Amino acid sequence: MKQLEPIVALATVPGVSAIAVIRLSGEGCFEITQKVFQGKKLALQPSHSAHFGKISTVDGLIDEVLVTVFRTPSSFTKEDSVEISCHGSPLIASKIIQALIQAGARLATPGEFTKRAFLNGRFDLTQAEAVADLIHAENEIAHQSAIHQMRGGFKRELEALRQELIHFASLVELELDFGEEDVEFAKRDDLRNMVLRLQGFIKPLIDSFQSGNVIKNGIRTVIAGKPNAGKSTLLNGLLNEERAIVSEIPGTTRDVIEDVIHLEGLAIRFIDTAGIRDSQDPIEAIGIDRTFQEMKKSALVLYLVDLSNATLDDVRQQEARLKSMEVPYLIVGNKLDLADQTLAEYFTSNQYVTICAKSKLNLEGLKTKILSLFQGLKPTHDGTLVTNLRHYQHLVETQAALDRVLNGLALKITGDFIAMDIRQSLYHLGSITGEISSEDLLDSIFSRFCIGK
Ligand code: GDP
Repeated sequence: MKQLEPIVALATVPGVSAIAVIRLSGEGCFEITQKVFQGKKLALQPSHSAHFGKISTVDGLIDEVLVTVFRTPSSFTKEDSVEISCHGSPLIASKIIQALIQAGARLATPGEFTKRAFLNGRFDLTQAEAVADLIHAENEIAHQSAIHQMRGGFKRELEALRQELIHFASLVELELDFGEEDVEFAKRDDLRNMVLRLQGFIKPLIDSFQSGNVIKNGIRTVIAGKPNAGKSTLLNGLLNEERAIVSEIPGTTRDVIEDVIHLEGLAIRFIDTAGIRDSQDPIEAIGIDRTFQEMKKSALVLYLVDLSNATLDDVRQQEARLKSMEVPYLIVGNKLDLADQTLAEYFTSNQYVTICAKSKLNLEGLKTKILSLFQGLKPTHDGTLVTNLRHYQHLVETQAALDRVLNGLALKITGDFIAMDIRQSLYHLGSITGEISSEDLLDSIFSRFCIGK
């Protein structure tokens, strides 16, 4: 196997720790390491063996280390590789990396080790992206879904789809070779049934994107309401920390604050906003404008009403306004301790949640209510979830191309046009698993990794 030029990077998190691991991969990495390593001759050692020794340069001893040797193709990248475990000081690690660069290695770019692993056939693109997602997975379900994808669950399903489609594409294209003769290798009814079956297969994947995305990025929940309704207090109560600024001067929360809480494995991404009211203050006006934008983008609006300082008319007006935005919302009554009696009764009869944010009264009830809204979003035991925007877009394109195939069949158009649309769907399916991939695409995927991955 052809090996690329040797690259080096810190593989562990930067900072002080018990040990740090420096990773090298590529042609000649044993010889390069040997230039600074005093110990056994690394090039002669068997794969997966570890060797104690010293790292030093002309400037003197840097550290005592353990060097693990991995021989091609039995390494993560499938190239010759070395892992140096040194003491976990950023200074030591950077000195060793500098020494290795001086000895002929080059600092790796983000994700370059994983990119090499991919290029050398260790796994396909969906799995490489799953590695990136795994690094970024913030909660339990996202973690499970990333692991599932990494094991190739997604790939197997897509490959089966692609193979069936390739078969039909070749039959239709074979017809084209016969030109004038009126032959039909691909029976149109069979082709139509097969395309319908494929679409039936892809649709749940596309639909899973919304759940998948919610699981990966959290349910975007905007906390809205008039200034002083207690939005910041509620957010703090939910987060159990003094993150947002709480003050008694109306309109102090000017910026958008984001934070995540985990409810039974679901991430809820809370966004605190500037209060809604007509404002003359230009800075505050920007904040209010952003509030509306945030509300429209969100999966849920928690609309907070100050029960001590509102009228029934007010509430009904706000309710109508929320309805017209066509975003799911929950009206929550706050300051139950100071509540106006009529309002409190109205809230109870409408089954709106009432809380006292300041004393954290009934925050549990609020959490339960939020969870009940998103129950359907939990993935099934081994359900495949599409959590990646790139995959989602290609699936949507595949579906559109398949629609064109069906249309073409219904209109009895000629085989060459049908073949073109089938090719299009194949292209998009292939783009997901990496059979079709441009250098740009690869770079954009692997740059999401950190250096050393
Ligand atoms: P925001 O402008 O909507 O973010 O409101 P804040 O969270 O800054 O709260 C405004 C004021 O209301 C603060 O003085 C809070 O202490 C107070 N407050 C918030 N929740 C409650 C509550 O449940 N009961 C009472 N009595 N006061 C509250």
